[in-house]
Order: sequence, then C-alpha cells, then structure tokens
Amino acid sequence: MTAERAYKNITAQTLDLLREAIVHAEYQPGHKLRIDQLAKSLSVSIGAVREALSRLTAEGLVVAEPNKGFIVAPISRRDLEDLTAVRVEVESTCLEQAIEHGDVDWEGRILSSHHKLRALGNAYMQPGTDAARQWHELHETFHDVLASACPNTWWLWLRRRLYVQSERYRRISGPIDGTQRDIVAEHEAIANAALARDAVAARKAMTMHLARTTEIILSSDFLSEENEDKQSGGAIPRVIERASIPRMTEIIQRREAR
Ligand SMILES: [Zn+2]
Repeated sequence: MTAERAYKNITAQTLDLLREAIVHAEYQPGHKLRIDQLAKSLSVSIGAVREALSRLTAEGLVVAEPNKGFIVAPISRRDLEDLTAVRVEVESTCLEQAIEHGDVDWEGRILSSHHKLRALGNAYMQPGTDAARQWHELHETFHDVLASACPNTWWLWLRRRLYVQSERYRRISGPIDGTQRDIVAEHEAIANAALARDAVAARKAMTMHLARTTEIILSSDFLSEENEDKQSGGAIPRVIERASIPRMTEIIQRREAR
C-alpha cells in the first residue's frame, strides 16, 4: 500500500468514527472538538482529524466557529422541524421516482427487507438489546431499498445527508415512545403502496411516517428550552416556545390542502 493510500484510509476511518460518535451523541451538541485531543485519543495524525472535521462541516454535523475551532452542530426544535419538512419532500420524491423506475428486483428487495423488519415488530422499544440494534439496521436497509431505484443520484445524495441528520435527533432523544404509534402498520402502508406502484399513496404514507417520528420527538422534553441553553459553543440554536410549534401532521395537512 502506498503512503498516500494509507493516509486516505486513515482519514476515511477517522471520518467514520467521528461521524458515528456525533450521530450517537457520544459528543453532545455544542461540544468543542479539540483537534489535538482527538488525534491523541484516536491515535491518528492532526492532519487526518482536521480533514475529517472539514468533511463533517460540509455534512452539517460540525460547525467551524471563527477563532474558536470546531464544535458539534447544535440542535433545536426549530431545526428539527425544518429538517423534517425538507426530508419529507426528499424521501417522497426519491420514492416516487423509484416507483416509476424500479424493476422486479427492486420489488423483491422491498418484500425481503420489509419481511425481516416486520418480523422484529417493535424491537426498537428495547434500547440496548441485540434485537433493537438489529431493528435499527433493518429499518435503515428498508428505507434505503425503497429509495434505491431512484435514478437521480443527487436526490439520493441529499437523502443520505438528511437521513444522518434525522438519525442524530432520534438517537439523542433516546428511545421513542412506540406506544403512540403502530410503526409496523406504517411501514406496511409504505411497502404496499410502493409495490402497488401507487405514488400518491406512497407519498402520503411516507409523509405521515416521518412526521409522526418528529412529532413524538418534539413532544418529549429533551429539546426543552432549558436543555438547549445547556449546549455550549456559540452557535445558539433558535429556541421556540413549545406552544408555538404546530404539530407536524398539521403542517403537512395544511400543505396538502393548499
Ligand atoms: Zn421507518
């Protein structure tokens, strides 16, 4: 292996490790990321850490602050709401295009991934268990498969970025209260609409699915004003009173009524 290739491998591994740590909230929002300390703890060069942080800045997971260095991107209720509004559009568009272009092989992969996910039921409600970990992997696969027949790589690129951002909120918020929903039925509705090539029903099912998750996160206390104030770092998240936040499903319904 050439020295250049080895360096690229180390940078890629550093990038993956840091992304994972941020998404899984090992580094909290607003946390200052000191390049020298990270290089030491990961046993990599300062250059590799600097390059990884630059890429994570481009992905929106890290913020570069003038004269302060890098911090983990802050989170806020408003940001989650905005993120969900864009994600609903992007996921639905990818799915619509996949419905138009997907072949029999795509249908088979939907059937297979949905079958495996359904078999695990509500396992995500038992955090820390093998079943929950497996559920999260299968859940990601199921949503990846649905979008995979979309031929537009820019939509898919955007979708991946937004998925990671959403995953961060979901992980930070802790276990989502599954008693407020029937997630198995939600996934079934999306899979059935995709297989029936019903783009209208698929968009509706996907929209309600994503909105429901956000609604449940917003109804928990973790994004309270007090918690947002605890985020260190300078890039202050926009704090909004809970009462002023319309429910995501209401936003979606209003948009559909237009
Ligand atoms: Zn899902």
